[in-house]
Amino acid sequence: MRTLENFPRVRLGLFPTPVHKLENISLLLHRNIFIKRDDLTGLGLGGNKIRKLEFLLADARAQGAEIVFTTGGAQSNHAMLTAAAAGKLGMKAVLVLKKRGVTECVGNQFLERLMGTEVRFVDTDDYADIYAEMDRIGKEYGQPYYKIPCGGSNALGSLGYVDCAREIAGQGLHFDHIVCAEGSGGTMAGLALGAKLFLPGTKVHGMMVDTDPFDRITPALMREAAQLLGISMEITQQDFSLRDMCGPGYAIPSEAGNAAVTLMAEREGIFLDPVYTGKAFAGLLEMAEEEVFEEKENILFLHSGGAGGLFAIQ
Ligand SMILES: *Cc1c(COP(=O)(O)O)cnc(C)c1O
Repeated sequence: MRTLENFPRVRLGLFPTPVHKLENISLLLHRNIFIKRDDLTGLGLGGNKIRKLEFLLADARAQGAEIVFTTGGAQSNHAMLTAAAAGKLGMKAVLVLKKRGVTECVGNQFLERLMGTEVRFVDTDDYADIYAEMDRIGKEYGQPYYKIPCGGSNALGSLGYVDCAREIAGQGLHFDHIVCAEGSGGTMAGLALGAKLFLPGTKVHGMMVDTDPFDRITPALMREAAQLLGISMEITQQDFSLRDMCGPGYAIPSEAGNAAVTLMAEREGIFLDPVYTGKAFAGLLEMAEEEVFEEKENILFLHSGGAGGLFAIQ
């Protein structure tokens, strides 16, 4: 096995992120609910993309690229955090975003303005158009460049969450369940693979906030990440579970998601977001309602960030 330490990595975040109990919500649900504070990863407004970018931007550097492209919707947290990370490392980020969602200068668009980030919009739903545009701009610059896929969700990016599972294993509590949002798949795939390696007896549940075929994407990414690590292990449908929490559509708030955002704000003073973590926590609430969790089990909710969206969407 090629260990995680063998991969080049830039230091961007503040790790380990805290784990603590949600006392009021635990009382309310009669279950032991904990939270992993990846909203406090320490760069930009925090969030899960920092863990992926530690591997991805190190790879960009190793390949001699100082220009990095990435993509997403107009309010992509990942794109904003890529710009923040690139700035910190003295690299240049160019965001080629889909002209979808809130394009006005609010939320993550506002933060990109603040950082002086180069943002280009392409009116398309097809990533082939986006990557072609990146290549066109890259040629214009005439310097080596590096393309990071949507959400940083390739095998290398997923290693950030394999490492997060290892981090959780070192934080002293056993969790029977981990619940996280699944938007492009890298977080869930990394956690599920990491759980197989470092968290025996922990089930990982992905709360789908988009309509992509995650039943295929998740195990495929898990296999690719395992291959990167030089591990041969069988990945089956038993290694993860999925729940559809998308509601009316990706980045369109749902009633259940909004109620979860409100509950967390009122009871715990913690802010979720309407696109990812609100819908994911709504999924956890549903699972509690359906008695998926037993009374003495420990459940960990991954707060993957997203604060920028709170000021743009809804
Ligand atoms: C991107 C994102 C997710 C989803 O993670 P994926 O690895 O893309 O599935 C969850 N929460 C927030 C706040 C995000 O920005």
